[in-house]
Amino acid sequence: QVCFIAIKTLSLIEQLQTEAQINIVLKPTHLPPLPSYILSLCEFPLDYMSQRFYMSEGIVIAMGTVTKYTQGARFLCSEETCPFSEGFKYIRVHIPGATESATVRNDFVCCLCASPLREDMKFRVLGDKQLVEMIDAKALSAFQGYSNNKPHFRIQSFTVFLRDELSNKMKIGNRYRFIGIPTCIQNCSQVTVCIEVNSLQLCSPEGTSCISDGFKYLLSLTSSSYWRFTAILANIFACQVVPPGTYNTLKLSILLSLVQTCDRDNEAANYLDLLIVQNVDICSFPLIYIVCLVARGIQHPRSSDIFPIVSKDKHGTGTASIQASSAVLAKGGICFIGDLLSHKKDKLELLQSVLESRTTTVFIPGKKYGEDVDQQVILPIQTSFWSFVDEDSSSKKYVQKDNVPLGKQDLRSISANLIDAFGLLVHCNELSCQLALPLLEHIMKKAIDPEQVLYTISQQFRTQDYEEFIVFAKNLQVELSSEAERLVHGYYLASRRVRTDSIHGSKLSTSALKILVSLAEAHAKLSLRRKVLEEDALIAILLFESSLTLKHGASVFCVAPNAVFPYDLSDENSLQRRDGYLMQCHQQLLQFIATYGPGTHVTNSEE
Ligand SMILES: [Zn+2]
Repeated sequence: QVCFIAIKTLSLIEQLQTEAQINIVLKPTHLPPLPSYILSLCEFPLDYMSQRFYMSEGIVIAMGTVTKYTQGARFLCSEETCPFSEGFKYIRVHIPGATESATVRNDFVCCLCASPLREDMKFRVLGDKQLVEMIDAKALSAFQGYSNNKPHFRIQSFTVFLRDELSNKMKIGNRYRFIGIPTCIQNCSQVTVCIEVNSLQLCSPEGTSCISDGFKYLLSLTSSSYWRFTAILANIFACQVVPPGTYNTLKLSILLSLVQTCDRDNEAANYLDLLIVQNVDICSFPLIYIVCLVARGIQHPRSSDIFPIVSKDKHGTGTASIQASSAVLAKGGICFIGDLLSHKKDKLELLQSVLESRTTTVFIPGKKYGEDVDQQVILPIQTSFWSFVDEDSSSKKYVQKDNVPLGKQDLRSISANLIDAFGLLVHCNELSCQLALPLLEHIMKKAIDPEQVLYTISQQFRTQDYEEFIVFAKNLQVELSSEAERLVHGYYLASRRVRTDSIHGSKLSTSALKILVSLAEAHAKLSLRRKVLEEDALIAILLFESSLTLKHGASVFCVAPNAVFPYDLSDENSLQRRDGYLMQCHQQLLQFIATYGPGTHVTNSEE
């Protein structure tokens, strides 16, 4: 009324005749941060009757295509003698939460003469609308392994309406804070709660600005060496689930992968994907625990799809809706897909292409979803993948050949390109070495009393401390020093030369350099340094060379089976010994580069 009077008095719109022609859409950008304005999607009861603004948050799990809706329509009385057969008495506009049939329908009647109303089609105003499904961020915990033994969980999602200029403003997998009006929609036999969004903003990831005192103290204690801090970090990591000192190489690789996750929309991030080769099914056990350390750590449930799929919209419109799936839900985090060989061949091919391109393409057939043309939607996959294969299951099927190169794992059941697509191959052979005993003891004790605190170190470095540490470390901006760059390049070129055969060309994939840089960067971040040093590059190279050895066997640059952790880290002495060993490795590496690197004559080692 106020707006109408103002517009009329000031003669702002000449054609304006009645109040019904005014449609006011409120777009509040903020609401008071008080509990009564906050709508939590996971708390009941929800207020969807009062038709007022609430502030809420959620993660987009499905997204429909943009379709049209009627913003407003003009109706006239069909009885020619009736005064309402002209003029602007019957203007119907969309109000939040209303369905299309509330605005346009063919059974409206004139309030004066009860004749049916007919729509004046040339006055119809159309707008864009998009249906988006969201879940509360807390619901993600269902994918984190806690409820893995309950396969039939159902996640309650909420439908969110984005209209007009808000269409296409949300991206699948992202988390948003929005202001909107909750309403209840009756759809056939189902009643659904929907939220009509009026404004939205992307939730910025929460970054912690500090690390726990325990880590600070550890950092000061180990400042004499560039390798000790991360060694101890890996040594005691996850001691809630595995005894300290076991799985050190795996735990270091995991930490490196964790600090290379990126929750900002950064398409140039250097992801570190891990493929773990294990000799006993024990390795997935700590992984489930570790996946929960990052906010977007998703354990892929076997029954669902890893990558986005298209399905029919649930609201009866028949339009296409893209479902997020595990890989997109894990945006900015980790997607743990379990046993690699448990996935079908076509899924593995898709996985390989995603690992290589970091995108996936969703095809929407127009015919099936009521559109004139087919559509292809390219979605970025900003996730690091972890998977494992059993050493036995992959090699038992084949008779072990005698001429398998030293150190090479027989993984013939997986395509070489897929293995290459994973940045790093890590071998877990804990049960076949002297570390088996503490591990078995740990499992026995945990079986007797799951709550028992087995190591005092787990109280000094709690799970939560590691969570904060990872958030802090991954947000560090690091810079590659020229020395580190030279070392990585030198190793890469030399390694390409020695791992070339006349039939297949070089065994080093083109992505190797990127992976090496990513590993070195990650090691610098994990050491809380902003500059990537030669020492970081050395660890990266040792891990990478071990991975190459698993794939293709040893090369001239021969590394020990446990190249990064050759000794138990029980005391100061062993750390000292490890430092000495790593310095020796550095010398060997320089020698290797000098012999086979750029600018040297190619000599074939077999000659
Ligand atoms: Zn009438």
